[in-house]
Amino acid sequence: MFCRNCGAQLSTGDSICYRCGAAAAGAPGAPPSGYGAPPNAHGAPPAYGAPPVYGAAPGHGPLAPVEQKSKIVAGILGIVLGSLGVHRFYLGFVGIGLLQILVTAVTCGAGGLWGFIEGILLLVGSMDRDARGVPLKD
Ligand SMILES: [Zn+2]
Repeated sequence: MFCRNCGAQLSTGDSICYRCGAAAAGAPGAPPSGYGAPPNAHGAPPAYGAPPVYGAAPGHGPLAPVEQKSKIVAGILGIVLGSLGVHRFYLGFVGIGLLQILVTAVTCGAGGLWGFIEGILLLVGSMDRDARGVPLKD
């Protein structure tokens, strides 16, 4: 059979034209031609094995904006509430935050110095990444 859109010869059983991406005539459930595959959240090209779709934009879209955590907020949280790991939760280090709560409890509060010091390190810039590796903003 032939593509009703561009005339390319199709193999029996092809539901999508390999050349123009149009749905082959009579194929049940085929998407209408001219519509690209829905882009995923990151604008990446379709997964390997997906049928080529004419007009689908390649994955060169701008990346989603990344929310940067504030260095000042993280530092102050560390100094004021560092014994409870609050600055760690703020930055996404949930496991370390939980550990800091545990250390503070086990050491009757002395371990809270850990979070306090990290608060200072955050303010002076020695710690400048969140759990995703995104730099902190000033
Ligand atoms: Zn075609």
